[in-house]
Amino acid sequence: MNILVINCGSSSLKYQLIDSDSEAVLAKGLCERIGIDKSVITHTPAGKDKVVLETPMPNHTVAVKLVIDALTNKEHGVIDSLDAIHAVGHRVVHGGEKFATSVIIDDTVMKAIEECNDLAPLHNPANLIGINSCKEIMPNVPMVAVFDTAFHQTMPEKAYLYGLPYEYYEKYKVRRYGFHGTSHDYVSAHAAEIMGKTRDALKIIVCHLGNGGSISAVDHGKCVDTSMGLTPLEGIIMGTRSGDIDPAICDFICRKENLTSVEMNNILNKKSGVLGLSKVSSDFRDIEAAANQGNQLAKAALEAFYYKVAKYIGAYVAAMNGVDAIAFTAGVGENNISGRAKIAEYLGYLGTQIDPEKNNVRGEDQVISTPDSKVTLLCVPTNEELAIARQTLALVK
Ligand code: AMP
Repeated sequence: MNILVINCGSSSLKYQLIDSDSEAVLAKGLCERIGIDKSVITHTPAGKDKVVLETPMPNHTVAVKLVIDALTNKEHGVIDSLDAIHAVGHRVVHGGEKFATSVIIDDTVMKAIEECNDLAPLHNPANLIGINSCKEIMPNVPMVAVFDTAFHQTMPEKAYLYGLPYEYYEKYKVRRYGFHGTSHDYVSAHAAEIMGKTRDALKIIVCHLGNGGSISAVDHGKCVDTSMGLTPLEGIIMGTRSGDIDPAICDFICRKENLTSVEMNNILNKKSGVLGLSKVSSDFRDIEAAANQGNQLAKAALEAFYYKVAKYIGAYVAAMNGVDAIAFTAGVGENNISGRAKIAEYLGYLGTQIDPEKNNVRGEDQVISTPDSKVTLLCVPTNEELAIARQTLALVK
């Protein structure tokens, strides 16, 4: 079965066509600048050259049409016709409290996703547009929604409630939801597999460290806490996002700099994190390069980042009353060798021992701790698209 995985943003659309039997990626690509000038589609068929085409994409429906054209093109296509797409899996950012698992999309599901728009105003409307565009072009193909929040719905009340007047939860559902759930689910399950154990028997902390980052505590297969909150702004320091701060800072800075709450929110999301701290870049490679050249702010930004990750790990060891494995994933987690070593330096109290040779790995499944380490450390590349394809298959077959 061929499954098209769609990840739709407000002006972008990422796709992968996955053969569910072999789990091979037949083609992948990205449509950028949808609805603005200079729209471009980059299509990469497996085993063939990448194709880049600048062509107008006034809306997402046109983008989906171009994706289908690319997939069925005689030269750089990978399937003969639209009929060879058997199901579509859509990444949907926010499922609120309505969705604890992936679901087949029907009108009721569409309505329920729309009701979560308030919780993710930048993401959910774009996800819905992507679903509608696909439905328009492939009306008879089953579609599945896979939610970023779903895996975290097992969190107990004590982990998801904020210390705010309860009426905000009652009226507006203000609570911790968590994100990157598809990745936390996939990586925790795969970490257990690599260890030759079942996830149901382990306490695992997943450190998804990318441009956006989140950490989760997965206790016997169930998420019991995660660092992102109502929105993806809470938690560790990220590329451009602040992560946790004293909430009173917002009012303080707004007064000092004469900013509105919308402007402040923009600063917290787009101008903070390691970018704001280092004044260099949001990209960890650039910051590492600057730090290696002696840039003190870059060094301080990295130190603050590693420290925060280590603090969350400590918190989640407490939440689970122990830990068997800590898995590093996403761009930084999978590739930043010295970063993993720095974080591991904080974990000696757990009897954790990183193996410098095994840690010398990028983007590969690998146990990176010594055999006598009390906690197993792992590098586990995430694969959200494959996880979405698997969940789609499970629902449509
Ligand atoms: P993601 O959001 O998962 O795509 O991760 C993007 C982040 O991963 C960027 O900040 C990259 O700088 C970082 N990254 C990718 N490769 C490396 C590397 N070799 N060393 C350090 N950071 C990396």
